[in-house]
Amino acid sequence: MEINLISDTVTKPTKGMLEAMMKAEVGDDVFGADPTVNLLQERVAKMFGMEAALFFPSGTMANQVAIKIHTQPGDKMFCDKWAHVYNYEGGGAAFNSGVTSHLIDGDRGMFTADQLAKAVMGRADIHVPYNRLVCIENTTNKGGGACWDFEELKRIQKISKDNNLAFHLDGARLFNALVAKNETPQQYGELFDTISICLSKGLGAPVGSILIGTKEHIEKALRVRKLFGGGMRQAGFLAAAAIYALDNQVERLADDHKKAKEIGQVLENCSYVKKVEPIETNIIIFYVNDDIDPMDFIKKMEAKGILLISMGDGKIRIVTHLDFTDEMHQKLLEELKLF
Ligand SMILES: *Cc1c(COP(=O)(O)O)cnc(C)c1O
Repeated sequence: MEINLISDTVTKPTKGMLEAMMKAEVGDDVFGADPTVNLLQERVAKMFGMEAALFFPSGTMANQVAIKIHTQPGDKMFCDKWAHVYNYEGGGAAFNSGVTSHLIDGDRGMFTADQLAKAVMGRADIHVPYNRLVCIENTTNKGGGACWDFEELKRIQKISKDNNLAFHLDGARLFNALVAKNETPQQYGELFDTISICLSKGLGAPVGSILIGTKEHIEKALRVRKLFGGGMRQAGFLAAAAIYALDNQVERLADDHKKAKEIGQVLENCSYVKKVEPIETNIIIFYVNDDIDPMDFIKKMEAKGILLISMGDGKIRIVTHLDFTDEMHQKLLEELKLF
């Protein structure tokens, strides 16, 4: 039995999802003629109380297109120093949009309104990049699945608005935050100009992300998605998986969160563990004692059929998900205690 906890992207479609995909009505989505893609886009836009949505092959492309439609080369984007859009998208903000990233020194991937207010201050003249965009990540990936305080997000939105800055949410795992904090999609729809969401992470679809925004934003995004090579043809098979995920695999995220907390409790009691970061959703980040090489720890767990991942700086990450069964969970807890 292999227990793969490197990410919540490793899940495979369930039987019900495969059946929904097989039955999907499809067409050529580049011509806007795929009814299942259109249905997904309409449904998600409505769910968030926003005007329109657009289906993407990946979360990276959805974020990169969002950055592109909000900025011009030479502009500046504000994000946390741990942000995915800065650390993990291959430098795409610079490559695709020619944007400078202003990194804010937040806590577990989250900064405060006061920090943003300080960062946006200063002169605006020909010498400096134009402030244009604020990017938030919820839940935070490198921050261990941490969820933002919604009141703080409101304050940050106000500063963004007062300074004419676009406000984008990298919501790759937004549904984890919604379930953990009992928040609604509408709350987020009211706050942000654009939101990207991964359907292929905790929600369990095989491929796909979605970008939500105003009609005007999504029209621009459609053009840039084409330019980036992201126009897909009979994508309805994938959209059907996404619709199935939204219908059937959202509430169950609470189970991933419960398992993550139980893993955290066991790790807290292991003498070889130096520190476990707070666990709010489905990501566990922990550090082993200085006399153990984290890579060595990961290799030894791998030899037992348990796959974990290093996040750099001594961070070891475990991510719980749909395909992590109760049986696997018990085995993992035993192996962690034994190590
Ligand atoms: C996974 C992830 C993305 C996008 O990833 P893709 O692998 O391109 O779908 C974006 N932001 C965050 C925070 C992520 O965790």
